Amino acid sequence: MMANGYNGTVLRIDLTNEKTEKVPVEAEFLRAYLGGGAIGTFYLHKETTAQTDPLDPENVLCIAPGVTTGAAVSGVSRCSVTALSPLTGMVGDSQAGGAIGPMIKRAGYDALVITGRADRLVYLWIDGGQVQIRNAGHLSGSKTSALLDSFDSELEGKGWSIIQCGPAGEKLVRFACLMVDRNDVAGRTGLGAVFGSKNLRAVAVRGQNDLNFADPEGLKRLAQKAAKAIPDAAFPATLQKYGTPGVVGFQAESGNFATHNYSKGFTTEYMQLSGETYAADLGAGGTTCFGCAVRCRKRVKADKPYPLSEDLGGPEFETLGLLGSNLDITDPAAVARANQLCGEYGIDTISMGGLAGYVFECLEKGLISDNEIDGVALGFSKPEGLFKLIEKTGQREGIGDILAEGFNAAVEKFGKATKDLAIHVKNQGLAVHMPQVKPSQALMYAVCPIGPDHQSCEHDWLLDAGGDDCLGLGIVGQGDRDSTNLAKVRMTINSQFYYSLLDSLCLCMFCWGPGNLFTYRELEDLLRFTTGWDCTFFELMKAGERRVNLMRQLNAKRGFTREHDCLPARVFEPLPDGPSKGKHVDRDSFAEMLDNYFNMIGWDPQTGNPSSGKLKELGLEWSI
Ligand code: SF4
Repeated sequence: MMANGYNGTVLRIDLTNEKTEKVPVEAEFLRAYLGGGAIGTFYLHKETTAQTDPLDPENVLCIAPGVTTGAAVSGVSRCSVTALSPLTGMVGDSQAGGAIGPMIKRAGYDALVITGRADRLVYLWIDGGQVQIRNAGHLSGSKTSALLDSFDSELEGKGWSIIQCGPAGEKLVRFACLMVDRNDVAGRTGLGAVFGSKNLRAVAVRGQNDLNFADPEGLKRLAQKAAKAIPDAAFPATLQKYGTPGVVGFQAESGNFATHNYSKGFTTEYMQLSGETYAADLGAGGTTCFGCAVRCRKRVKADKPYPLSEDLGGPEFETLGLLGSNLDITDPAAVARANQLCGEYGIDTISMGGLAGYVFECLEKGLISDNEIDGVALGFSKPEGLFKLIEKTGQREGIGDILAEGFNAAVEKFGKATKDLAIHVKNQGLAVHMPQVKPSQALMYAVCPIGPDHQSCEHDWLLDAGGDDCLGLGIVGQGDRDSTNLAKVRMTINSQFYYSLLDSLCLCMFCWGPGNLFTYRELEDLLRFTTGWDCTFFELMKAGERRVNLMRQLNAKRGFTREHDCLPARVFEPLPDGPSKGKHVDRDSFAEMLDNYFNMIGWDPQTGNPSSGKLKELGLEWSI
C-alpha cells in the first residue's frame, strides 16, 4: 500500500516521441530512496551509460519534490533537479524553493522524468492529470521575466508554477541555471543547459489535489513550534530579518569572503554588501518558499543608477561574494543589478563570478590582451564591464562564447599560464566559503559528487561547538574550526550524509540544518507525521548515505576517480592580509584528510570509488 505523503506515480515525458506516461512506483522503492535528488540519481544510474553525453537526448532529467513537500511546515517544500551535468560531466543536482515542488505533488506526481529531445522549442504544460507538450518557438531567446509575462496571459487561469531555463540554457551555456517563478533558482551544475539540449524551455505545473498526510495535527504542532522558535534561533532570525546577506558581516570578519579572484578573504568595504545595507538602502520586503515562516527571500528595488526590479529578488550571500567582493565591486546596487541580469539570462551567479574573476586577473597580469575581449572595458571594480560580460556569456558572443564552456575551455584558449588563476574544481567555480579558512569545505569541494558545493556538509563550526547538534550525528572527538584531524573528517562525512538526506527529502538546511529550527528527533517526527512510517534517525541517515554512494558510483562509471579530487593551486598559498591572514590549505594535511575520508567512508583509498562491500551494505548491489 502506498504511504501517505506520496502519490505513487512518476510522470515520464519522452520529448523525442512526444509521449507521456504515468508510471506507478512501489512504496518499498520510495522508502529506500525517499525522493528528491535520490530518486533522480536512481533514474540517471539506471538509464544512462558511461558514454552518455550530458547534452545528448539520452540524458535523464528528473524534477522531484520530497515526501514532505506541500506540508505547511517551515523548510519542507524545496524541489530537486537532477541530470548529468554539462559542466562537470558527473551527476548534476540542484535544489530550488518557490512553489514548483508543491505544485508537482498536488498535480499527482512524485517526480517528472524527462528524456529525449523535442524537434522544436517546447514547453511542458501540466495541469493535474492533463499533460501537453506545447510549442515554445515564440518564446525563443526571451529573457526569463518576459517568458513569465507571456505565460501570465497564455496559461489558462491562475495558480501555475514555472521552472524554466533562460536564453543561456537555450544556447547551452554549461553553467546555465533554472529559474523558478520570479524569485527562486536551482543554480548549480548547469541544469539549464540540459533543458536547452532537450529543446525544453519551461515546465509549467498546476496542481489542485489535496495532499494526504498521516498526521496533519502533528504537522501543525511542528509548524507552530518552529514559527515560535524563529526569534530565538540565531541563524533563522538573521535570515528572517536580512536574508542570507545577513551573514556577510560575520563571514567577512572571519576572513571568509572571497575577494579579488580568491586571492584575499576580506575587503574593508564589506559592510556595503551587508544585509543591513540592502535593507536600509534598497530593501523591498521579502517572499517565502511554500509554507515557510522564515521568509528569507529578500527583494530589492531602485530606479538608478542601476534599475532593479523588485519582482526578480535580491542577491544571496554567495552572489554578493562572487559578483561583488571577488570582483572588487562593493556598490550594492551594482551587485544586485548583476544578479538580476544573471537571472534574466538564466546564468549561475557563482560560476559567472568565478569566471569573471579569472578574466579580470588575467587582464591585470597581461595574460589576456585587449583585443581578446571584444573592446569591452573589463576589469576589477568595473560593474559596467561585468554587466556586458554577463550579456555576452548569455548570448555566447565573443569572449562570452569561450566562458560559456567553463574554466577548462577558457584555460585552453588563453594558455597554461592562466591555469592557476582559474578557481574551480572539475570545471565548476568555487562558492564564496573559502577552503583556506574552512578545512571541511576544502575536503568537500574536492570529493563532492556534484562538484564543489558549500551545502553538501556542515561547516567547521559544528565540531567547534560540540554538544548535541554534533553528537546527534554520531560525531565524536574534539576539534576546532581549523583542525584537520580525524574528528573533522568524521564531521564532514556524517554531516554529508545528513545533508544528502535533506536533499532526498527536499528540506531546507536553513531550517533543518544542525542547530537551526528543528532537532533530529523532530525530523523523525516529520517523517512519521507525513508518511505514517515509524522511521528511525538511523534509517534516515542510511538513506542519506545511500544517495552519496550512488552519486559517487555513477561518477565512477563515468571514469572519475580520486585523481580528479583536487583543489585549485591558489588555495594552498597563505592569504596575505585581513582576519584570515596566513590561512591556507596545507598540502600534507589535505592529503591526509583525503586518505582518512576514503578509509572512513568505505571507499577504495586508491581510486576513491565506493567498494562493492559498501554498495552491498546499502542495497546498491545493482549499481556494481
Ligand atoms: S528558510 Fe528561506 S530558502 Fe529555506 S524554505 Fe524558508 S524561505 Fe525558503
